[in-house]
Amino acid sequence: MNDMKELSRLIGELKEQIDACTRCGMCQSVCPVFSETGRESDVARGKLAMLDGLVQEMFKNPNGVSDRLDRCAFCGSCAFHCPGGIHVLEIFIKSRSIISGFIRLPWYKKIIFRWMLASPRIFNFIITLLQPFQKVFIRPANPFIGTSCSRVFSPILKQRHFIPLAPLPFHQMVPSMDTPPGSAGIKVAFFTGCIVDKFFPHVAKAALNIFEYHGIGAFLPEGLGCCGIPALTSGDMKAFHQLIRSNIEKLDLSRFDILVTPCATCTFTIKKIWPLLCQHKAETLKHRIEKLSSVTMDISEFLVKHIHLKASSVSNHPLTTLSYHDPCHLKKSLGVFAEPRTLLRSVAGYTLKDMQNADRCCGMGGSFNLNHYEISTRIGMRKRDDIVDTGCAVVATGCPACMMQLSDMLSKAGDKIKVKHTIEIYSESLK
Ligand code: SF4
Ligand code: SF4
Repeated sequence: MNDMKELSRLIGELKEQIDACTRCGMCQSVCPVFSETGRESDVARGKLAMLDGLVQEMFKNPNGVSDRLDRCAFCGSCAFHCPGGIHVLEIFIKSRSIISGFIRLPWYKKIIFRWMLASPRIFNFIITLLQPFQKVFIRPANPFIGTSCSRVFSPILKQRHFIPLAPLPFHQMVPSMDTPPGSAGIKVAFFTGCIVDKFFPHVAKAALNIFEYHGIGAFLPEGLGCCGIPALTSGDMKAFHQLIRSNIEKLDLSRFDILVTPCATCTFTIKKIWPLLCQHKAETLKHRIEKLSSVTMDISEFLVKHIHLKASSVSNHPLTTLSYHDPCHLKKSLGVFAEPRTLLRSVAGYTLKDMQNADRCCGMGGSFNLNHYEISTRIGMRKRDDIVDTGCAVVATGCPACMMQLSDMLSKAGDKIKVKHTIEIYSESLK
């Protein structure tokens, strides 16, 4: 009971932000989860009302509140469209971090997040062990897209068509690097991110190709880990802070000008969530985190703003039709949507055709896809229909998690549309 009082007190610190919600309902029309379920507790307004109920001690069940907060694709559409400018994701993140202190994390989550994910060496070792065995359990699903599916019923894989682990992760191809700035006169730190490292290492290779082509110095310290978002959204704050500490120690700010990542979610996490949840840390560490977040950028944004890449006027025939899906964490959370399109328009041989609802969530949402696959698929299939309607041969995006979801949806529907990262397409155009 005392625990509940303490929980109400801590959530009460967000009360001013929660009370700013006028219950106008604008978020209903843009919430991808609500559009599938029609449940008020799935939309931002309902979740904020529930948190208010927790503050007023009307609810006594932190697990129940946590489960309802978990039914969220974390897309930020509600915040983006909220007329009151309420920072909904910040409220969700902070309340989840508070509630996670009051609920017992299942033992298997502790093993996954604290002992595996939070220790890059152990995590990488386990993935290396698993990679050769995956063939036993999976078979090709759509070779055109490069997906696989489970050979037997699997409660984890369900009916997913997924991208298998790459034969060699990027960190084994390039364990570290430190090259000086060339003609561009600028040096970046490269934060690969777990999904690119283990599933799409060719995307990281594409980034290095671009750096070399444009004379950009690159700093890649050995042993960088996950950005922490899977631990955070699963309620393991301890693992999340362990990862921040371990990464920040390796990212020596005097060695580079800008930190770039090819993952929209990593960019958002480092830029917005690390400083948001590190206010209580010691001044020196807090300062380093804030400094790092201020120089963190999405890689397409970096290339357009710092290398001044421009849309090409060259028109080659025949042109391949290309469409672009806006990752939620790039457009809605960071305001990056023009730069990836500029980058794609700079590539001769493609014509960019925007899909309907290009910024509508694909339904991935990290742990949301794992925990609520059926809703995630319904959201994803709407995205698939919008992609197919453009008649494109290739769909580009700037987030490896979105690449996974788009591959799953297109593959399951039997489509022959390639899913590529924006910088992969740009890199292929460089001679
Ligand atoms: S749009 Fe904003 S103010 Fe309106 S109900 Fe949703 S969260 Fe509340
Ligand atoms: S973040 Fe997205 S899924 Fe979650 S409540 Fe807001 S609009 Fe709905």
